[in-house]
Amino acid sequence: MRKSIPKTMVVLGYRILIEKSSPKEIEEETGKRHDAFWLSLLEGMSQFAGRIMIDKSISRFKQWRALWHEVEHAITDISDWDLDKRQMEEEIEGLCLDCGKNRAKEAKGEV
Ligand SMILES: [Zn+2]
Repeated sequence: MRKSIPKTMVVLGYRILIEKSSPKEIEEETGKRHDAFWLSLLEGMSQFAGRIMIDKSISRFKQWRALWHEVEHAITDISDWDLDKRQMEEEIEGLCLDCGKNRAKEAKGEV
């Protein structure tokens, strides 16, 4: 039996919150159905660096698969956190093929 999803996780020394949510809750947050998504809270006042919501209705295997995918986004955001923002806008070219997230556009505030 695969281990259940943890409630929090430490990524690069930052604690992130992991919430198992209904498909409806995820759709309300993102406007679409997703197995999971990552929301950075680095700019805010939260004690957490960010939050990952995971669809609790999918299989545990899919929950873990979705979690690792979102942890990759968390690693990218947290590691960017310490870099010079202007340099980041010029140099980031990453694109997530699964969710279509373009990091260069995101850094410029275009998405
Ligand atoms: Zn993605």
